[in-house]
Amino acid sequence: MTRVCSCNNGTKSKLPIVQKIKKKYAKRFRKPIEVFLFHAVTEEYDEKQNMLIDWSQTEDFKKHIHVLKRRYTFVSLEEVYRKLNSRIPRWRRYAALTCDDGFSSVLDVLPFLAKEGIPVTLFINPKYLDGVSHREGYAENQQYITHDQLWALTSPLLTVGMHGYEHDDSTKKTAEEFCRSVEKCKELLQSHPRFVPYYAYTGGRHSDLTQQILHHKGIIPLMVRGKSNTKYYGAIERRPIDSYYWEKTLSLIGLSNEK
Ligand SMILES: [Zn+2]
Repeated sequence: MTRVCSCNNGTKSKLPIVQKIKKKYAKRFRKPIEVFLFHAVTEEYDEKQNMLIDWSQTEDFKKHIHVLKRRYTFVSLEEVYRKLNSRIPRWRRYAALTCDDGFSSVLDVLPFLAKEGIPVTLFINPKYLDGVSHREGYAENQQYITHDQLWALTSPLLTVGMHGYEHDDSTKKTAEEFCRSVEKCKELLQSHPRFVPYYAYTGGRHSDLTQQILHHKGIIPLMVRGKSNTKYYGAIERRPIDSYYWEKTLSLIGLSNEK
């Protein structure tokens, strides 16, 4: 339906057509950016060590990265944020890679990612550094990266973000509890030389309140709603690429495993 603009002497406004053109233009000249998420990567699945939905077999993970590399130019998360806030046309398809939970197995894939020139952001729960991640509903013995291992990671291809002090549901906390958890998480991680003020919600669970709190603190939130990003609308969207989700994500982005 065409709208009539009151400041236009009653002539019909072309706003809807302009919007359509803008949308078409935006899609063509500002390609959506994908941010992918993975968790544990090991040679074999062990139900005592891994959660099936948060796990990839090492060779499969490498194959999946190669498939994505054929389409996307991988950049850092900070670069994604800059691009989403920029009006400069994006001719290429960009993507970033993130890893949640800081399981120690990530150390085994970092050399591969470095060789491929792929930046990665690790989202850490500092409560579990130097220990195991005890989380309700999760495997009992997911070995976490240690403090020393994490602080030894200083490659320019790597950044460290926040995933909450512990791995719990931010929407079940009061504003004060969530604030305290974020502050504690930040306090324990910000001395890392590659720290960035990005916060990946545990399980993607968030609310308007948690969003307001993070924005107030100048922290950039990350979701897991299986969407791509066209602009920065107050959060960065991600898609999981752990083996359990791989085929679904592949179909959502319109890619196939074939060469
Ligand atoms: Zn997590």
